[in-house]
Amino acid sequence: MENLVVAIDGPSGSGKSSVSKEVARRLGAAFLDTGAMYRALTFACLEGGTDLEDEAAVTGAVKAASVEIGTDPDHEQVLVNGADVTATIREPFVSEAVSAVAGVLDVRAELVRRQQQIISENAPIVAEGRDITTVVAPEAPARILLTAREEVRMARRGLQLGGTQSQDDLQRQVVARDAKDSKVTSFTSAADGVVTVDSSDLDFEQTVQAVLAVVEAAGKRA
Ligand code: C5P
Repeated sequence: MENLVVAIDGPSGSGKSSVSKEVARRLGAAFLDTGAMYRALTFACLEGGTDLEDEAAVTGAVKAASVEIGTDPDHEQVLVNGADVTATIREPFVSEAVSAVAGVLDVRAELVRRQQQIISENAPIVAEGRDITTVVAPEAPARILLTAREEVRMARRGLQLGGTQSQDDLQRQVVARDAKDSKVTSFTSAADGVVTVDSSDLDFEQTVQAVLAVVEAAGKRA
């Protein structure tokens, strides 16, 4: 248990962040939201006026930015160059730009390296994102793909954003973003050894239990 790593991937609106956080709490483990790191670096690029179409400029801006991310599931905190951006990185202007930054392969290499370091220093840990089961922690004993049907994911994201978004906005933030992300990461079907949990017809507690069951089964195999 002391070195346990639980890797969870999934599309936006799958409930990945809230479920992973609760699983971490129940396991008494740390929690890493890798999407928050991509969001934080996207904010740093936008704030610095970096042209997101210029891959070399984006890579340079990312390498120069310091991101500090908390790993306490009860206290979310993200700092970019010392400034607290925890709330700002959830805003639609960041959601709509993040795929451009996450699509730069040198950016991914840099972030994978930082994420692997955080995971090794903070285990036991639950880490969630798009490429955790396949690239960041392919050796993790428990690897899960958390999915849900598209209409369910759009409805959940709409609720999260306070019910103020139009269908078009939600489509852009959920479906179009996943389509862009799918060019560089593979999170729509489970890789070998990765267990799929479909939360479409499960409530929050049932989803948490389904993930905990996968973790427990992995513990028995170990
Ligand atoms: O999970 P979240 O929606 O916060 O992720 C924000 C974005 O970060 C994703 O749309 C994707 O572009 C990127 N991301 C990624 N790899 C990860 C986690 C997130 O490319 N492991």
